[in-house]
Amino acid sequence: MKEFDYIIIGGGCAGLSLAYELNLHNKLNQKKLAIIEPRSEYVRDKTWSFWKVSSHNFEDCVKKSWSNFNLRLEGSVPTQVNQCQKYPYQTIDSGLFYKKITDNLKKNKNIYFFNKIDGLNIKNSFVFNSVPEFENQDSHLWQHFCGYEITTKKDCFNDKTIALMDFNCEQKNNVHFFYVLPFSKNKALIETTWISKNNDNSLKDYDLQIKSYIKSNFFNPEYEINYKEEGAIPLFYPSNSNKNNKINIGTAGCMTRLSTGYTFLNIQDHSKYIRMNIDKIENLKRFELGKKYKILDKIFLNVLMENPEKMPDIFYKIFHRNELKAIKFLSNKSNLIDDLSIILKMPKWIFIKSLLN
Ligand SMILES: Cc1cc2nc3c(=O)[nH]c(=O)nc-3n(C[C@H](O)[C@H](O)[C@H](O)COP(=O)(O)OP(=O)(O)OC[C@H]3O[C@@H](n4cnc5c(N)ncnc54)[C@H](O)[C@@H]3O)c2cc1C
Repeated sequence: MKEFDYIIIGGGCAGLSLAYELNLHNKLNQKKLAIIEPRSEYVRDKTWSFWKVSSHNFEDCVKKSWSNFNLRLEGSVPTQVNQCQKYPYQTIDSGLFYKKITDNLKKNKNIYFFNKIDGLNIKNSFVFNSVPEFENQDSHLWQHFCGYEITTKKDCFNDKTIALMDFNCEQKNNVHFFYVLPFSKNKALIETTWISKNNDNSLKDYDLQIKSYIKSNFFNPEYEINYKEEGAIPLFYPSNSNKNNKINIGTAGCMTRLSTGYTFLNIQDHSKYIRMNIDKIENLKRFELGKKYKILDKIFLNVLMENPEKMPDIFYKIFHRNELKAIKFLSNKSNLIDDLSIILKMPKWIFIKSLLN
Protein backbone atom coordinates (compact mmCIF):
# COMPACT_ATOMS: atom_id res chain seq x y z
CA MET A 1 0.00 0.00 0.00
CA LYS A 2 1.30 3.46 -0.91
CA GLU A 3 1.36 5.96 1.96
CA PHE A 4 0.57 9.70 1.68
CA ASP A 5 -0.03 12.49 4.16
CA TYR A 6 -2.92 13.86 2.11
CA ILE A 7 -5.13 12.35 -0.60
CA ILE A 8 -7.36 14.53 -2.79
CA ILE A 9 -10.12 12.49 -4.47
CA GLY A 10 -11.14 14.25 -7.70
CA GLY A 11 -8.77 16.61 -9.49
CA GLY A 12 -11.45 19.01 -10.75
CA CYS A 13 -12.08 22.58 -9.67
CA ALA A 14 -12.00 22.01 -5.89
CA GLY A 15 -9.29 19.33 -5.82
CA LEU A 16 -6.89 21.30 -8.01
CA SER A 17 -7.66 24.63 -6.31
CA LEU A 18 -6.78 23.11 -2.95
CA ALA A 19 -3.61 21.41 -4.21
CA TYR A 20 -2.49 24.68 -5.83
CA GLU A 21 -3.22 26.71 -2.69
CA LEU A 22 -1.24 24.27 -0.52
CA ASN A 23 1.67 24.14 -2.95
CA LEU A 24 1.75 27.93 -3.41
CA HIS A 25 2.11 28.39 0.35
CA ASN A 26 4.83 25.71 0.70
CA LYS A 27 2.59 23.35 2.66
CA LEU A 28 3.74 20.39 0.56
CA ASN A 29 7.50 20.74 1.01
CA GLN A 30 7.59 18.10 3.77
CA LYS A 31 4.28 16.33 3.03
CA LYS A 32 3.27 13.89 0.32
CA LEU A 33 0.04 14.46 -1.62
CA ALA A 34 -1.79 12.06 -3.97
CA ILE A 35 -4.43 13.39 -6.37
CA ILE A 36 -6.88 10.80 -7.76
CA GLU A 37 -8.40 11.89 -11.06
CA PRO A 38 -9.83 9.48 -13.67
CA ARG A 39 -9.75 11.80 -16.69
CA SER A 40 -6.83 11.15 -19.01
CA GLU A 41 -6.38 14.76 -20.16
CA TYR A 42 -7.55 18.18 -19.13
CA VAL A 43 -9.44 20.20 -21.74
CA ARG A 44 -11.63 23.27 -21.42
CA ASP A 45 -15.00 21.97 -20.18
CA LYS A 46 -16.46 24.76 -18.06
CA THR A 47 -16.70 28.55 -17.95
CA TRP A 48 -16.66 29.66 -14.32
CA SER A 49 -18.13 33.10 -13.62
CA PHE A 50 -18.75 35.05 -10.43
CA TRP A 51 -18.75 38.51 -8.92
CA LYS A 52 -15.30 39.09 -7.57
CA VAL A 53 -16.10 39.79 -3.93
CA SER A 54 -12.84 38.26 -2.68
CA SER A 55 -9.38 37.63 -4.10
CA HIS A 56 -8.38 34.37 -5.79
CA ASN A 57 -5.27 32.80 -7.35
CA PHE A 58 -6.47 32.82 -10.95
CA GLU A 59 -6.47 36.42 -12.22
CA ASP A 60 -4.26 35.23 -15.09
CA CYS A 61 -6.97 32.75 -16.18
CA VAL A 62 -9.68 35.44 -16.34
CA LYS A 63 -11.05 35.57 -19.87
CA LYS A 64 -12.93 38.81 -19.29
CA SER A 65 -14.30 41.08 -16.53
CA TRP A 66 -17.41 43.25 -16.86
CA SER A 67 -18.76 46.16 -14.82
CA ASN A 68 -22.30 46.07 -16.16
CA PHE A 69 -25.09 43.54 -16.34
CA ASN A 70 -28.78 43.54 -17.09
CA LEU A 71 -31.88 41.44 -16.58
CA ARG A 72 -34.80 41.31 -19.00
CA LEU A 73 -38.38 40.29 -18.28
CA GLU A 74 -40.63 38.48 -20.73
CA GLY A 75 -41.91 40.71 -23.51
CA SER A 76 -39.79 43.68 -22.48
CA VAL A 77 -36.70 45.33 -23.92
CA PRO A 78 -33.50 44.83 -21.85
CA THR A 79 -33.85 46.78 -18.64
CA GLN A 80 -31.64 49.48 -17.30
CA VAL A 81 -28.00 48.50 -16.85
CA ASN A 82 -26.94 47.46 -13.35
CA GLN A 83 -23.42 48.48 -12.44
CA CYS A 84 -20.91 46.35 -10.56
CA GLN A 85 -17.54 48.19 -10.80
CA LYS A 86 -16.89 47.45 -7.13
CA TYR A 87 -17.38 43.70 -7.63
CA PRO A 88 -16.66 43.03 -11.31
CA TYR A 89 -18.20 39.96 -12.91
CA GLN A 90 -15.31 37.71 -13.95
CA THR A 91 -15.16 34.68 -16.21
CA ILE A 92 -12.48 32.04 -15.92
CA ASP A 93 -11.56 29.71 -18.76
CA SER A 94 -11.24 26.22 -17.25
CA GLY A 95 -8.66 25.26 -19.93
CA LEU A 96 -6.27 27.98 -18.67
CA PHE A 97 -7.03 27.06 -15.05
CA TYR A 98 -6.22 23.35 -15.55
CA LYS A 99 -3.00 24.15 -17.42
CA LYS A 100 -1.75 26.68 -14.89
CA ILE A 101 -2.34 24.30 -11.98
CA THR A 102 -1.08 21.05 -13.52
CA ASP A 103 2.08 22.80 -14.81
CA ASN A 104 2.70 24.11 -11.30
CA LEU A 105 1.97 20.86 -9.42
CA LYS A 106 4.14 18.72 -11.70
CA LYS A 107 7.21 20.66 -10.48
CA ASN A 108 6.79 19.39 -6.91
CA LYS A 109 8.18 15.86 -6.45
CA ASN A 110 5.92 15.36 -3.39
CA ILE A 111 2.75 15.51 -5.53
CA TYR A 112 1.63 12.33 -7.30
CA PHE A 113 -1.24 11.80 -9.76
CA PHE A 114 -3.20 8.52 -9.95
CA ASN A 115 -6.29 7.63 -11.93
CA LYS A 116 -7.62 5.15 -9.36
CA ILE A 117 -7.57 4.97 -5.60
CA ASP A 118 -6.62 1.26 -5.61
CA GLY A 119 -3.36 0.57 -3.82
CA LEU A 120 -3.38 3.78 -1.73
CA ASN A 121 -3.64 3.62 2.03
CA ILE A 122 -6.68 5.78 2.78
CA LYS A 123 -6.80 4.96 6.50
CA ASN A 124 -3.43 6.54 7.27
CA SER A 125 -3.97 9.69 5.19
CA PHE A 126 -6.07 12.80 5.54
CA VAL A 127 -8.61 12.75 2.70
CA PHE A 128 -10.14 15.71 0.83
CA ASN A 129 -13.02 14.34 -1.23
CA SER A 130 -14.64 16.15 -4.14
CA VAL A 131 -16.78 13.35 -5.57
CA PRO A 132 -20.40 14.08 -4.63
CA GLU A 133 -22.96 11.41 -3.74
CA PHE A 134 -26.63 12.13 -4.46
CA GLU A 135 -29.81 10.59 -3.10
CA ASN A 136 -33.29 11.05 -4.64
CA GLN A 137 -31.84 13.14 -7.46
CA ASP A 138 -35.13 13.35 -9.33
CA SER A 139 -37.10 14.93 -6.52
CA HIS A 140 -34.81 17.98 -6.29
CA LEU A 141 -34.21 21.12 -8.32
CA TRP A 142 -31.20 21.44 -10.61
CA GLN A 143 -29.83 24.31 -12.63
CA HIS A 144 -29.24 22.64 -15.99
CA PHE A 145 -27.90 24.40 -19.02
CA CYS A 146 -26.13 24.31 -22.33
CA GLY A 147 -24.01 27.04 -23.89
CA TYR A 148 -22.42 27.82 -27.23
CA GLU A 149 -19.45 30.11 -27.57
CA ILE A 150 -19.91 31.62 -31.03
CA THR A 151 -18.02 33.97 -33.32
CA THR A 152 -20.26 35.97 -35.64
CA LYS A 153 -19.21 37.26 -39.05
CA LYS A 154 -20.44 40.80 -38.24
CA ASP A 155 -20.35 42.60 -34.91
CA CYS A 156 -23.58 42.06 -33.01
CA PHE A 157 -22.89 42.06 -29.24
CA ASN A 158 -22.60 44.90 -26.74
CA ASP A 159 -19.33 43.75 -25.20
CA LYS A 160 -19.66 46.07 -22.19
CA THR A 161 -22.75 44.44 -20.64
CA ILE A 162 -23.61 40.86 -19.82
CA ALA A 163 -27.18 39.55 -19.99
CA LEU A 164 -27.31 37.90 -16.58
CA MET A 165 -30.87 36.64 -16.95
CA ASP A 166 -32.95 37.16 -20.06
CA PHE A 167 -36.39 35.77 -19.27
CA ASN A 168 -37.81 36.73 -22.66
CA CYS A 169 -38.24 33.07 -23.64
CA GLU A 170 -40.60 30.13 -23.17
CA GLN A 171 -40.92 29.12 -19.50
CA LYS A 172 -42.93 25.85 -19.80
CA ASN A 173 -44.03 26.11 -16.12
CA ASN A 174 -40.41 26.19 -14.94
CA VAL A 175 -37.80 28.91 -14.63
CA HIS A 176 -35.93 29.52 -17.88
CA PHE A 177 -33.54 32.26 -18.95
CA PHE A 178 -30.72 32.95 -21.35
CA TYR A 179 -27.31 34.10 -20.16
CA VAL A 180 -25.00 35.97 -22.54
CA LEU A 181 -21.33 36.70 -21.85
CA PRO A 182 -20.07 38.97 -24.65
CA PHE A 183 -16.30 38.52 -24.90
CA SER A 184 -16.08 40.98 -27.81
CA LYS A 185 -18.43 42.59 -30.32
CA ASN A 186 -18.46 39.37 -32.36
CA LYS A 187 -17.78 36.64 -29.78
CA ALA A 188 -20.04 35.51 -26.93
CA LEU A 189 -21.05 32.57 -24.79
CA ILE A 190 -24.83 32.11 -25.01
CA GLU A 191 -26.43 29.70 -22.55
CA THR A 192 -29.95 28.42 -22.17
CA THR A 193 -30.52 27.78 -18.45
CA TRP A 194 -33.39 26.00 -16.70
CA ILE A 195 -34.14 25.67 -13.01
CA SER A 196 -36.27 22.55 -12.76
CA LYS A 197 -36.16 18.90 -11.87
CA ASN A 198 -33.61 17.33 -14.14
CA ASN A 199 -35.73 14.47 -15.46
CA ASP A 200 -37.90 16.32 -17.99
CA ASN A 201 -36.35 15.71 -21.39
CA SER A 202 -38.81 18.04 -23.09
CA LEU A 203 -36.75 20.96 -21.70
CA LYS A 204 -33.51 19.62 -23.12
CA ASP A 205 -33.74 20.47 -26.81
CA TYR A 206 -30.97 22.92 -25.94
CA ASP A 207 -29.52 23.22 -29.47
CA LEU A 208 -32.85 24.33 -30.86
CA GLN A 209 -33.36 26.80 -28.00
CA ILE A 210 -29.96 28.44 -28.47
CA LYS A 211 -30.19 28.62 -32.26
CA SER A 212 -33.62 30.21 -32.12
CA TYR A 213 -32.46 32.70 -29.44
CA ILE A 214 -29.47 33.75 -31.53
CA LYS A 215 -31.65 34.13 -34.62
CA SER A 216 -34.28 36.30 -32.99
CA ASN A 217 -32.07 38.38 -30.68
CA PHE A 218 -29.08 39.11 -32.90
CA PHE A 219 -30.72 39.51 -36.34
CA ASN A 220 -30.03 36.01 -37.62
CA PRO A 221 -26.24 36.40 -37.86
CA GLU A 222 -23.83 34.09 -39.66
CA TYR A 223 -21.72 32.41 -36.99
CA GLU A 224 -19.34 29.60 -36.08
CA ILE A 225 -19.54 27.55 -32.86
CA ASN A 226 -16.09 27.53 -31.20
CA TYR A 227 -16.99 25.65 -28.04
CA LYS A 228 -19.97 24.01 -26.37
CA GLU A 229 -20.59 23.24 -22.70
CA GLU A 230 -23.41 21.44 -20.98
CA GLY A 231 -23.95 20.77 -17.30
CA ALA A 232 -26.24 20.51 -14.31
CA ILE A 233 -25.63 22.02 -10.89
CA PRO A 234 -27.51 20.42 -8.00
CA LEU A 235 -29.58 22.96 -6.03
CA PHE A 236 -29.57 20.65 -3.02
CA TYR A 237 -26.81 19.28 -0.83
CA PRO A 238 -25.18 15.94 -1.58
CA SER A 239 -25.25 13.18 1.01
CA ASN A 240 -21.47 12.83 1.54
CA SER A 241 -20.68 12.21 5.18
CA ASN A 242 -17.83 13.88 7.06
CA LYS A 243 -15.47 11.58 8.92
CA ASN A 244 -12.57 12.32 11.24
CA ASN A 245 -9.89 11.92 8.61
CA LYS A 246 -11.97 13.35 5.73
CA ILE A 247 -13.20 16.75 4.60
CA ASN A 248 -15.54 17.06 1.62
CA ILE A 249 -14.71 19.91 -0.75
CA GLY A 250 -16.34 21.53 -3.78
CA THR A 251 -19.86 20.43 -4.66
CA ALA A 252 -19.45 17.44 -2.34
CA GLY A 253 -18.51 19.85 0.47
CA CYS A 254 -21.70 21.96 0.03
CA MET A 255 -19.85 24.91 -1.52
CA THR A 256 -22.71 25.69 -3.93
CA ARG A 257 -25.09 28.55 -3.12
CA LEU A 258 -28.39 26.81 -3.66
CA SER A 259 -30.26 29.92 -4.83
CA THR A 260 -27.80 30.61 -7.66
CA GLY A 261 -25.51 27.64 -8.34
CA TYR A 262 -22.42 29.84 -7.78
CA THR A 263 -19.64 27.66 -6.37
CA PHE A 264 -16.27 28.71 -7.80
CA LEU A 265 -15.36 31.52 -5.39
CA ASN A 266 -16.63 29.53 -2.38
CA ILE A 267 -14.25 26.75 -3.40
CA GLN A 268 -11.40 29.29 -3.36
CA ASP A 269 -12.39 30.58 0.10
CA HIS A 270 -12.61 26.99 1.38
CA SER A 271 -9.14 26.17 -0.04
CA LYS A 272 -7.66 29.21 1.75
CA TYR A 273 -9.32 28.16 5.01
CA ILE A 274 -7.90 24.63 4.76
CA ARG A 275 -4.42 25.92 3.87
CA MET A 276 -4.38 28.34 6.82
CA ASN A 277 -5.36 25.54 9.18
CA ILE A 278 -3.60 22.56 7.61
CA ASP A 279 -1.36 22.02 10.65
CA LYS A 280 -4.41 21.30 12.85
CA ILE A 281 -6.54 19.72 10.13
CA GLU A 282 -7.63 16.72 12.22
CA ASN A 283 -9.49 18.93 14.73
CA LEU A 284 -10.63 21.66 12.39
CA LYS A 285 -14.10 23.21 12.62
CA ARG A 286 -15.83 22.56 9.28
CA PHE A 287 -16.04 25.51 6.88
CA GLU A 288 -19.61 26.50 5.98
CA LEU A 289 -21.17 29.16 3.77
CA GLY A 290 -23.29 30.40 6.67
CA LYS A 291 -26.47 29.13 8.30
CA LYS A 292 -28.53 32.18 7.31
CA TYR A 293 -27.85 31.54 3.62
CA LYS A 294 -28.82 27.88 3.99
CA ILE A 295 -32.15 28.84 5.58
CA LEU A 296 -32.93 31.72 3.20
CA ASP A 297 -31.97 29.67 0.11
CA LYS A 298 -34.21 26.82 1.25
CA ILE A 299 -37.18 29.19 1.59
CA PHE A 300 -36.33 30.79 -1.76
CA LEU A 301 -36.24 27.42 -3.54
CA ASN A 302 -39.56 26.36 -1.98
CA VAL A 303 -41.10 29.54 -3.35
CA LEU A 304 -39.49 28.85 -6.71
CA MET A 305 -40.79 25.27 -6.82
CA GLU A 306 -44.34 26.40 -5.98
CA ASN A 307 -44.43 29.63 -8.02
CA PRO A 308 -42.08 29.33 -11.00
CA GLU A 309 -44.10 31.92 -12.93
CA LYS A 310 -43.34 34.56 -10.26
CA MET A 311 -39.56 34.07 -10.36
CA PRO A 312 -38.54 36.39 -13.23
CA ASP A 313 -40.17 39.28 -11.39
CA ILE A 314 -38.59 38.22 -8.07
CA PHE A 315 -35.07 38.00 -9.58
CA TYR A 316 -35.64 41.37 -11.24
CA LYS A 317 -36.68 42.95 -7.92
CA ILE A 318 -33.67 41.51 -6.06
CA PHE A 319 -31.33 43.53 -8.30
CA HIS A 320 -33.45 46.59 -9.11
CA ARG A 321 -31.70 49.71 -7.69
CA ASN A 322 -30.02 47.35 -5.22
CA GLU A 323 -27.23 45.72 -7.21
CA LEU A 324 -24.35 45.91 -4.71
CA LYS A 325 -26.41 44.61 -1.80
CA ALA A 326 -27.81 41.86 -4.04
CA ILE A 327 -24.32 40.85 -5.19
CA LYS A 328 -23.06 40.70 -1.60
CA PHE A 329 -26.07 38.65 -0.56
CA LEU A 330 -25.76 36.20 -3.46
CA SER A 331 -22.01 35.88 -2.85
CA ASN A 332 -22.52 35.24 0.88
CA LYS A 333 -20.78 38.43 1.96
CA SER A 334 -23.84 40.39 3.13
CA ASN A 335 -24.48 42.08 6.46
CA LEU A 336 -27.84 42.37 8.20
CA ILE A 337 -28.74 45.60 6.37
CA ASP A 338 -27.99 43.97 3.00
CA ASP A 339 -30.09 40.93 3.96
CA LEU A 340 -33.02 43.11 5.01
CA SER A 341 -32.85 45.07 1.77
CA ILE A 342 -33.33 41.80 -0.13
CA ILE A 343 -35.98 40.35 2.17
CA LEU A 344 -38.06 43.56 2.04
CA LYS A 345 -38.13 43.39 -1.75
CA MET A 346 -39.72 39.93 -1.77
CA PRO A 347 -43.47 39.51 -2.25
CA LYS A 348 -44.41 38.88 1.38
CA TRP A 349 -47.49 36.70 1.00
CA ILE A 350 -46.00 33.92 -1.14
CA PHE A 351 -42.96 33.71 1.14
CA ILE A 352 -45.16 33.52 4.25
CA LYS A 353 -47.36 30.89 2.57
CA SER A 354 -44.31 28.83 1.69
CA LEU A 355 -43.04 29.07 5.29
CA LEU A 356 -46.40 27.86 6.62
CA ASN A 357 -46.53 24.87 4.24
C1 LIG B 1 -20.61 23.25 -17.04
C2 LIG B 1 -20.58 23.90 -15.68
C3 LIG B 1 -20.43 25.28 -15.56
C4 LIG B 1 -20.39 25.87 -14.29
N1 LIG B 1 -20.28 27.24 -14.21
C5 LIG B 1 -20.18 27.81 -12.99
C6 LIG B 1 -20.01 29.22 -12.88
O1 LIG B 1 -20.07 29.96 -13.88
N2 LIG B 1 -19.81 29.76 -11.65
C7 LIG B 1 -19.77 28.99 -10.52
O2 LIG B 1 -19.54 29.54 -9.43
N3 LIG B 1 -19.99 27.67 -10.59
C8 LIG B 1 -20.21 27.05 -11.79
N4 LIG B 1 -20.39 25.70 -11.86
C9 LIG B 1 -20.53 24.94 -10.59
C10 LIG B 1 -19.17 24.53 -9.99
O3 LIG B 1 -18.32 25.64 -9.88
C11 LIG B 1 -18.47 23.47 -10.81
O4 LIG B 1 -19.29 22.34 -10.91
C12 LIG B 1 -17.13 23.06 -10.22
O5 LIG B 1 -16.47 22.34 -11.21
C13 LIG B 1 -17.29 22.22 -8.95
O6 LIG B 1 -16.02 21.76 -8.56
P1 LIG B 1 -15.82 20.32 -7.95
O7 LIG B 1 -14.38 20.14 -7.77
O8 LIG B 1 -16.74 20.13 -6.82
O9 LIG B 1 -16.34 19.32 -9.09
P2 LIG B 1 -15.58 18.97 -10.44
O10 LIG B 1 -14.91 20.16 -11.00
O11 LIG B 1 -16.61 18.28 -11.28
O12 LIG B 1 -14.46 17.93 -10.00
C14 LIG B 1 -14.76 16.62 -9.57
C15 LIG B 1 -13.67 15.74 -10.16
O13 LIG B 1 -13.82 14.41 -9.66
C16 LIG B 1 -13.48 13.50 -10.69
N5 LIG B 1 -14.10 12.21 -10.36
C17 LIG B 1 -15.33 11.75 -10.67
N6 LIG B 1 -15.50 10.50 -10.16
C18 LIG B 1 -14.38 10.20 -9.49
C19 LIG B 1 -13.97 9.07 -8.71
N7 LIG B 1 -14.79 8.02 -8.52
N8 LIG B 1 -12.74 9.09 -8.16
C20 LIG B 1 -11.93 10.14 -8.31
N9 LIG B 1 -12.26 11.25 -9.02
C21 LIG B 1 -13.48 11.27 -9.61
C22 LIG B 1 -14.03 14.15 -11.95
O14 LIG B 1 -13.38 13.67 -13.11
C23 LIG B 1 -13.72 15.63 -11.67
O15 LIG B 1 -12.49 16.03 -12.23
C24 LIG B 1 -20.49 25.08 -13.11
C25 LIG B 1 -20.68 23.70 -13.25
C26 LIG B 1 -20.74 23.11 -14.50
C27 LIG B 1 -20.99 21.62 -14.59
